[in-house]
Amino acid sequence: MISIQNVNKSFGDLHVLSDINLEIPKSNIVALIGPSGAGKSTLIRTINALEEIDNGSVVVDGVEIHAKKTDLNKARTNIGFVFQSFNLYPFLTALENVTVAPRKVKGLGKEEAEQKGKELLTSLGLGDKFDAYPSKLSGGQQQRVAIARALAMDPQVMLFDEPTSALDPEMVKEVLDAIRKLAKSGMTMVVVTHEMGFAKEICDEIVFMADGKIVEKALPSKFFSIPDTERARNFLSKVL
Ligand code: ADP
Ligand code: MG
Repeated sequence: MISIQNVNKSFGDLHVLSDINLEIPKSNIVALIGPSGAGKSTLIRTINALEEIDNGSVVVDGVEIHAKKTDLNKARTNIGFVFQSFNLYPFLTALENVTVAPRKVKGLGKEEAEQKGKELLTSLGLGDKFDAYPSKLSGGQQQRVAIARALAMDPQVMLFDEPTSALDPEMVKEVLDAIRKLAKSGMTMVVVTHEMGFAKEICDEIVFMADGKIVEKALPSKFFSIPDTERARNFLSKVL
């Protein structure tokens, strides 16, 4: 579903992605972990071309994301992205946040978009928040609206960049539960996270990055018990 081959990227003199190769089969869930500055955000953002690449290729569901001829707006409808900082439209209600793209980009009628939006919000525990504006919602509720908004486009792939890092601790679980539910539905996902227990529980593969490189790829059971590299052992000793 996602194929990343020989991707390199620099910001000026800083080589932030170095020969990245990663294959993610349909319905697999990959956790991207590693120290701050490792290049995790840059890498996940290349998957829907929020970041350009210098060379290499990223293919999602058969579409060469960084090719000039690719219709990025269309390709992005297939790739949901959830940010650390929610990024809801502040002047739209929860339901409007969820229905705006299906209506404008996919051309869904108001009723159809609203019915679907209400179903999604309800499934994420927000059945009583359709008309609430983001400023009236908690961080955890806002992040669940952001997840509903991404899902409203029926994506094949969901990308999460530290979806719980901006949340108060008591709200982390409700957002992780929403992602767990998606995992059970067979969604293909890449999750940048510092929630190691969560990564171990739901992910098929751990990808450990440091200094712009993939240092280890392993099954969670292996990575969290006997990582291959000193770099990973060092990282785990600080976060576990
Ligand atoms: P992570 O998400 O693992 O913390 P990032 O991908 O955000 O790492 O950043 C990797 C490196 O690239 C860091 O050194 C960061 O400072 C740098 N970087 C990220 N975005 C930019 C940018 N837009 N311009 C210049 N440097 C950047
Ligand atoms: Mg980051």
